[in-house]
Amino acid sequence: MAALNLAELIAAAADTIGAHAEELTALDQAIGDGDHGLNMKRGFEAVRADAEAFAAKSLPEALKAIGTKLVMTIGGASGPLFGTLFMALGKEISTEPDRADLTAAFGKAIEAVAARGKSQVGQKTMLDVLQPVHDALLRGKTAPEIANIADAAADATMPMKALRGRASFLGDRSIGHMDPGARSTALLVRTVAQTIGKSA
Ligand code: ADP
Ligand code: MG
Repeated sequence: MAALNLAELIAAAADTIGAHAEELTALDQAIGDGDHGLNMKRGFEAVRADAEAFAAKSLPEALKAIGTKLVMTIGGASGPLFGTLFMALGKEISTEPDRADLTAAFGKAIEAVAARGKSQVGQKTMLDVLQPVHDALLRGKTAPEIANIADAAADATMPMKALRGRASFLGDRSIGHMDPGARSTALLVRTVAQTIGKSA
């Protein structure tokens, strides 16, 4: 894997989240409280504002610092969960990861998110995208394939009944809507896949 351009990756992630904030808001209006778009935008703009400082750190330290920033700025239920994802990735990843390192660290980070959220796959959350992406990494899928797998996994949350988070209050009425956190996760996965794929 070529050296990761973290500043470029941060800018791309913040651009993507910004471009899709209204869509995320609409998804969260359907089965939550409608703040997911703004939450994510606030978080990723805060990361963008400090991009130079993050990019100056080693990858593990940068990911930990980004996670901490996301916890402080996203808010809601998703802030601590996205924060945990990045902090745990930072804790587990090596300074110059190859695919195997990245895959192993990502697996551990997903476990940390599940522990933090007391959640598991099939409950209509971000985990329903994270887990298939990890499986795809394990199976040797290419970056474009992984991006498509993430989108398909977000779509696949539609028929699910929410069992965690605010959407679970709706019970059966959560069925038929895409989970906002699954969608934002898929957007981030595509951005990372495209940015890393470009330099790989
Ligand atoms: P809030 O629900 O507090 O308004 P957000 O709207 O920002 O927070 O985020 C909602 C998203 O967070 C959901 O779509 C879901 O993907 C994710 N989420 C909520 N609770 C959990 C949980 N316990 N485990 C995993 N993901 C969760
Ligand atoms: Mg919400």
